[in-house]
Amino acid sequence: MDSNGEPVTAPPNATFDTLLVLDFGSQYSHLITRRLRDLQIYSELLPCTANVLDLSWKPKGVILSGGPYSVYEKGAPHVDWTQLSQLDIPILGICYGLQEIAWHHDNKNVLAGEKREYGHAKLKIEKHKGEAAHVDKLFNGLGNDLDVWMSHGDKLSHLPASFSIIADTPNAPFAGIVHGTKPYYGIQFHPEVSHTPKGIELLRNFAVDICMVRQHWTMEEFVGKEISRIRTLVGEKGQVIGAVSGGVDSTVAAKLMHEAIGGRFHAVLVDNGLLRQDEAKIVHKTLTNHFGIQLTVVDASQRFLGELKGVTDPEQKRKTIGRNFIDVFQEEAHKLEKAAANSPNAGDIEWLLQGTLYPDVIESISFKGPSQTIKSHHNVGGLPAAMHLKLIEPLRELFKDEVRILGTKLGIPEHLVWRHPFPGPGLAIRVLGEATEPQLRIVRQADKIFIDELVANDLYRKTSQAFAALLPVRAVGVIGDKREHGQIISLRAVETTDFMTAVRSHFDIENRTFLDRVSSRITNEVEGITRVVYDITSKPPGTIEME
Ligand code: GLN
Repeated sequence: MDSNGEPVTAPPNATFDTLLVLDFGSQYSHLITRRLRDLQIYSELLPCTANVLDLSWKPKGVILSGGPYSVYEKGAPHVDWTQLSQLDIPILGICYGLQEIAWHHDNKNVLAGEKREYGHAKLKIEKHKGEAAHVDKLFNGLGNDLDVWMSHGDKLSHLPASFSIIADTPNAPFAGIVHGTKPYYGIQFHPEVSHTPKGIELLRNFAVDICMVRQHWTMEEFVGKEISRIRTLVGEKGQVIGAVSGGVDSTVAAKLMHEAIGGRFHAVLVDNGLLRQDEAKIVHKTLTNHFGIQLTVVDASQRFLGELKGVTDPEQKRKTIGRNFIDVFQEEAHKLEKAAANSPNAGDIEWLLQGTLYPDVIESISFKGPSQTIKSHHNVGGLPAAMHLKLIEPLRELFKDEVRILGTKLGIPEHLVWRHPFPGPGLAIRVLGEATEPQLRIVRQADKIFIDELVANDLYRKTSQAFAALLPVRAVGVIGDKREHGQIISLRAVETTDFMTAVRSHFDIENRTFLDRVSSRITNEVEGITRVVYDITSKPPGTIEME
């Protein structure tokens, strides 16, 4: 029940003040949403082609993102300006978004500049005393000069009618513009990137002072609403089944379900033989002994390893694992369903819990031109349809760090909440080439050494994801005075905030000898390994995992 005594089934955009980000395909679009969340402002992203008048909720303001296109190009994406202006709410255009606002007011005033502008710029803020009150609000309190980040090639040739200049740089005379009577703002630079240090304050000015949103998006507020939303959705007797993996997302989702419906939530851990050292035992201990969650561990390792025999192609590995996962999970669900049907106080299993996060949602809805799948993601996407189950996704609106805060609120221990992500296909994609049992054993041992050392040296939390992979080549080494043609372990450790881009961890600067120590432990303790290398590739062009 909410404060009016109404049952809550509504998603956050119905109960929190919400800003809408319309995406024109910029690589930074998701960051706008992310920064607003840092300000405890709820924000959602939709493609620029969304019908904003058909939404079930009303945004308090709209931000038009940047984008790789040029507004004057044939086929360039455009927002339906008539619809957008009918919402009668403030609008902020960033880069392409600024050009889009200008173009909708006068489709001749955007053109290609003589040169691209990429990098830092000094912005001068122009004050407009005596004009309408909203005019100076965007840059209010930010000083007279601002360090900003630019990334554009097009420019405005002249101001659209009714607009005036609120900021400029030597190179961009229309770096900030505002409509004379309406709260429409456009800026040529990117406030959402960390290279614009006061960007967050500008976003706050827009959201709080111009759109009048409340900064009430906190996990304290969310958790109570979400638990009652789950209870209302599932009903008095409904039951939910969900897969857990030991990762933070499925653990938090499971704990939340348990808080909401107790024993009517059934967790299943499929041990596919591709898990890390002692993983199944640890998950069982945490979920069952500590949290009291109903958990079934299914040992299907022989089945998975059998199916993976001879498979070396990364995509085929992922697909084989995904398909078998669905089969095993489904078999287990049928057993649980039968048992559930016999329990006197509970109804059928109608729901499938999934730990989908907001970046997955963004990835699937954001505006892109022709794009291609980089890797197929292992998820249980095929499950709900095959099993006639309805999906329940309590983390669907959350970013990873929000999930972590939520997990902490729910009493999940710190080492679990801060666990690095682990891929669904598990160690199979960290053994390059065929994932056989002996090869998996090697990578498992090496991984454990690496992770244990990270923890022992207080580096685990400083890296976002770290692992060992086994390369499918051999190199010569000398072990105990004997020539050995052994295998190679590749270590990878990256730092990232959103996993969309990443750089390798620079252990060499702060912790000069750390990698030496890991390397020497691995070559000493893991049989068959004669060489250890450190992967220094960034993402892009690399991906975080090897396959
Ligand atoms: N394509 C537009 C330009 O080059 C917009 C770029 C952007 O939004 N970052 O000016």
